[in-house]
Amino acid sequence: MKLWPRRPAPARPRADHTRIAVLEHDLLGIPPEPGTAAALTVALRRAGTCVQHDPVDVTTFGDPQPSAMCSRCSTCMVLDEHGRWTPARANLNQA
Ligand SMILES: [Zn+2]
Repeated sequence: MKLWPRRPAPARPRADHTRIAVLEHDLLGIPPEPGTAAALTVALRRAGTCVQHDPVDVTTFGDPQPSAMCSRCSTCMVLDEHGRWTPARANLNQA
């Protein structure tokens, strides 16, 4: 027995596939598929507006080595053997 007509269920918000792919890249390190909007987003972010990194020391007492973060593009940076701040990913690739 229907007392009044039911309203249709509101459309559930759909997850944005580009945002999911970018979050997967940021949090899990999964590279987005080439040629997608997510790949373009990540590539443009890497190009960014950060011409020269501006490291800010974020080392805590528990850290085994000094670490920093760029105040412009938030790239994680570490000290290299010459005492210069370099992006942390560059060091991981060399190892
Ligand atoms: Zn930077």
